Amino acid sequence: MFADVIVDIQHEKLDKIFQYRIPESMEGKLEPGMEVLVPFGKGNRQIRGYVTGISGTCDYDLSKVKEIIEIPERAMEIEAKLVALAAWMKENYGGTMIQALKTVLPIKQKENAKVKKRLRLLLDEETGRRQLHYYQEKNQKARARLMAALLDDHVLEYELVTKKLNITTPVIRALEEQGVLAVETERIFRTPLKQNQQQTRRITYTPEQRNVISRFRQDYGAGVRSTYLIHGVTGSGKTEVYMEMIRTVVELGKQAIVLIPEIALTYQTVMRFYRRFGDRVAIMNSRLSAGERYDQMMRAKAGQVDVMIGPRSALFTPFPDLGLIVIDEEHEPTYKSEQTPRYHARETAIQRAKMENASVVLGSATPSMEAMYRARRGEYILFEMKNRSRMQRMAEVYTVDMREELKNGNRSILSTKLRELMEDRLEKGEQIMLFLNRRGYSGFISCRECGHVVKCPHCDVSLSVHRDGKMRCHYCGYEQPKITVCPECGSRYIGEFRAGTQQIEEIVHETFSQARVLRMDMDTTRQKDAHEKILSAFANEEADVLVGTQMIVKGHDFPNVTLVGVLAADMSLYTGDYRSGERTFQLLTQAAGRAGRGERPGEAVIQTYDPSHYAIETAAAQDYEAFYEEEIRYRELMGYPPAEQLLAVFVSGEDEGLLEKGCHYLKEYILRVIRGLSGREDARTGKTGVRTVQPAAAVIGPASPGIDKIKDVYRRVIYIKAEQYELLVAMKNRVEKYIEINSGFDSMRIQFDFNPM
Ligand code: ADP
Ligand code: ZN
Ligand code: ZN
Repeated sequence: MFADVIVDIQHEKLDKIFQYRIPESMEGKLEPGMEVLVPFGKGNRQIRGYVTGISGTCDYDLSKVKEIIEIPERAMEIEAKLVALAAWMKENYGGTMIQALKTVLPIKQKENAKVKKRLRLLLDEETGRRQLHYYQEKNQKARARLMAALLDDHVLEYELVTKKLNITTPVIRALEEQGVLAVETERIFRTPLKQNQQQTRRITYTPEQRNVISRFRQDYGAGVRSTYLIHGVTGSGKTEVYMEMIRTVVELGKQAIVLIPEIALTYQTVMRFYRRFGDRVAIMNSRLSAGERYDQMMRAKAGQVDVMIGPRSALFTPFPDLGLIVIDEEHEPTYKSEQTPRYHARETAIQRAKMENASVVLGSATPSMEAMYRARRGEYILFEMKNRSRMQRMAEVYTVDMREELKNGNRSILSTKLRELMEDRLEKGEQIMLFLNRRGYSGFISCRECGHVVKCPHCDVSLSVHRDGKMRCHYCGYEQPKITVCPECGSRYIGEFRAGTQQIEEIVHETFSQARVLRMDMDTTRQKDAHEKILSAFANEEADVLVGTQMIVKGHDFPNVTLVGVLAADMSLYTGDYRSGERTFQLLTQAAGRAGRGERPGEAVIQTYDPSHYAIETAAAQDYEAFYEEEIRYRELMGYPPAEQLLAVFVSGEDEGLLEKGCHYLKEYILRVIRGLSGREDARTGKTGVRTVQPAAAVIGPASPGIDKIKDVYRRVIYIKAEQYELLVAMKNRVEKYIEINSGFDSMRIQFDFNPM
């Protein structure tokens, strides 16, 4: 037997794996992730390495293969656990071991130490309050906001203030010049708050919160490790619950990881964690340089941190004794990696927790179908939190049927209802957000008169218009010529739905000449910091209306926003993706949740051509259960995840003809494997008996993955559907071998994506 060994992982080079012979004495003892001592280089100096895989064959000259010296007698190292996790990821998501290792291991970066800045309040409490009052009087919103924050916490991280509190540098400079604050610098490795500034204010938990906390404590104390799903409306107090769970774990000397999508990691949230856990908290975000990220990881490894907060990649924090992983907003698609290995943070977190004896807590106001499905089957422990902790009311939601508007002669993008409510808010000086639901690049065809959408007869997803004038299904490749008359009602008002944020901005200008409008989309946020500037201006109430795409729906708290309009709510229903209903429901629920964050109650208007679609109906009613029931029936009927499992095999290459051929052979091979798996060897006759039961898996495609060609590289996708995930993993392994031994595939790139999003 031979072991794949990676050596010297402290260093930046992770691109070579060496094979070593396993001495007989170690056979059966060695597992991926274990540390070993091996001879290395010409002088055979002894160095440490980690086993990343075990195989029966050797790819090198046998006479030159060296033997493993020994397994050091020490407790499992932190790296070893991560290497073992990488091995699991490689097996379950595809790709190479090196790709997996690069994903999980902190990679050392040489870089000059960065200087970090912080703001310190120079005024005493009373003078500070007077100054705050002064700014408010003068209507200097940004200054007032910064002043209020400084009164809450006398020392603030510079980055946090500019990026999350949406305060621009000139404002900070102005306050510095006025002697209100000082900008201090210090070397990194510190977070802003000292332990003694930690907040000790105790809140009285609601009965719903108490229930979750006590069950978790009981389980944890009894040594039970589980996965918990908290389904709780926004504002029900989930974050308070997470913090209490984290405290339980930290008190036992263990550490916790909190995953929050970057966009949802607001100033308020960051500060709450700092106040609770002081400088034992580290925050990870994409703006950190590779070197800074490495430093954070090393702090964690050295035991200087108890809680790591960050987006997906924070999952791989090398904690010595991990006790808990929290995943907030677990339904967010950003938890799925777009790069090989295309792992999902939820599944990977559960696996890591299993390997390290930790618990997992998932939280969401709109849980993913996957999470709820598992919870209902008893794999996760489910908690419901239905009430807002501070008694704010949920927004009032109106649905407007745009077909009716057209009938009544209103051809505008704004419905009568939305226009009326906008007028009202502009008069009162309250703010409005207009959200254009625009997702997916492929245009679908819909009828503006009756709302009919042209769908694939085989797949129940919408057809997409291509430049060659044909409409295609991205799942099965079905195609038909583009139509010009609605097959339902005969109307000629049928075509690709086109409306951009820019058009909406113009229409708002035309309709309300006095309104100040800001726009946030791909075009206006291309420049560095543009994102922050727009949000900052809106937070300072320099505009009445913010028009934008998905970007504006998440995370941001604007207390003065009391009206949210969703234009083209059904847009995301027809993206040619089986998850479109789920995405639509989540987006609409989130959008409605943006209204009425402050003292005043909010309203939301959902404009749609398809008001009776279950995703829209249930979102307007804010009824998750009803949505789930409908959606799971659809998934079960069509055999889509989570009811069944789906593996996408992406094949790409520069030669289109070769690619077609390759896909053909690949599909034939997959079908052969499936027949082999479904059939049963009859031991007596030696013949393969044909089973009458359903085949174990189905193959769809090769089809277009949406974009057929990128930079002259052609792309195809083959889908394999099966009930068992393990079967798809076995399939991936077979396909990997098949393409490895067939040189015909050398010019092609093959990638796997399990349960693609
Ligand atoms: P979620 O994470 O579910 O959106 P949060 O934990 O952020 O909810 O709570 C929403 C707001 O209510 C926060 O300002 C929080 O401090 C406050 N809050 C939460 N629980 C309580 C409680 N039991 N009593 C008073 N305020 C609470
Ligand atoms: Zn029609
Ligand atoms: Zn189809």
